[in-house]
Amino acid sequence: MLELSDCIVLHGAELIPHHCDRLVVKSDTIDRLDLGAPVQAIDHGAIVVMPGLYNAHTHMGDSCLPDGATGMTLEQGFFRPHGYKYRELAKRSPAEHLEHIANHLRYMAQTGTIAHVDFREQGVAGAELLKAASEQTGVRSIVLGQFHDLPFTEAELEANRSSLQAEAIAELKAILTVADGFSESTMNDLTDRAWQEIRAIASDKIRAIHCLENDGYRSLSVTRTGRGDLERAIDLYDPDLIIHATVATAEEIALLSRDRRNVVLNPRANANLGLPLPPIAALLESDANLLLGTDNGLLNSPNLLAELDFTYKIAKSQFGDAIRPEPRSILQMATSNIRAFLGGDTYGYLEAGLPADLVLLDFTQPHLRSTRNVVASVVSRITPADLLLTMRHGQVLYQSEWLRLLWASHANL
Ligand SMILES: [Zn+2]
Repeated sequence: MLELSDCIVLHGAELIPHHCDRLVVKSDTIDRLDLGAPVQAIDHGAIVVMPGLYNAHTHMGDSCLPDGATGMTLEQGFFRPHGYKYRELAKRSPAEHLEHIANHLRYMAQTGTIAHVDFREQGVAGAELLKAASEQTGVRSIVLGQFHDLPFTEAELEANRSSLQAEAIAELKAILTVADGFSESTMNDLTDRAWQEIRAIASDKIRAIHCLENDGYRSLSVTRTGRGDLERAIDLYDPDLIIHATVATAEEIALLSRDRRNVVLNPRANANLGLPLPPIAALLESDANLLLGTDNGLLNSPNLLAELDFTYKIAKSQFGDAIRPEPRSILQMATSNIRAFLGGDTYGYLEAGLPADLVLLDFTQPHLRSTRNVVASVVSRITPADLLLTMRHGQVLYQSEWLRLLWASHANL
């Protein structure tokens, strides 16, 4: 049980800050939320309650190699079969690997994240390892597995006629018994027929793909098949989740908008690889449903607070004025926008009767206590040191030392 009085709650899918006389969590649910008037500014500090964050794109499997690909190209660092990441992961024992992943999931909770959607390498065993880390930490891992080894040769990919062999189909089915869905690095890693086969086999699972991370994704796809990678993905694979869209053109943004696709932006990872920044402003003005990710643990810390700040500032620069976007539209990318993708008991926002998936922020800190705009400060000024508690379905995933001592001396906060 958690009981708070006299706090501020970012309420509902629109994340409108309200005074809250009393917030009560019982078991896994927000039992009471006695809201007062909306509020924009704070004069003398407060506890601010925001929804738990969703990191919609990670590769926590390579979190054991922080900054290991510094100085390498995308291909040298991250691509199968000989990229640095795959060579290094093959050297880790499962026990050592599990400890690294679990520690990084705990760091995610410490920075406000309650769930993540992960592209998990290493086939069935890789998916099982992440599930184990999720169980250890309470952070929800939505696991999207991929083939352990690419099922086609370069010549087969260039001919673009082959189907998946029985061995690959058996591996895919085995992955889907453990994982929540399927992911693959790029559309160029499989043939058109294979994508259609995977779509049929994974019809009731989550299907995800990286698209348009750089111009090479599109141009190689056009050379081999006559169509760009996004166009092929939508036609052949019908993905539930499209990652990157870094170099999306106006026509490609229109495709994403037409179908209200779930698109995950990873601006810090893109910048770290020397790639163009995604067209955040243009996508915000489209009907695509935007989510936010931190991408590879190797490349980036899985800290969405940093991603929110970076995304907000870039979006403002791209809009070209100091007015757009509203900060809450950026925070929605890591909270309430998740509902259109996951549904079920995943809401990404706070209302009475909904799951207790929340984060307590210490707005009594000097840099926050007299904010003139609560949501703008959440998006651009929060550091991990300002988090008091992260909770998922009523389970405490993280609490600050200060809060732990307070709870030790009182039954409730
Ligand atoms: Zn990725």
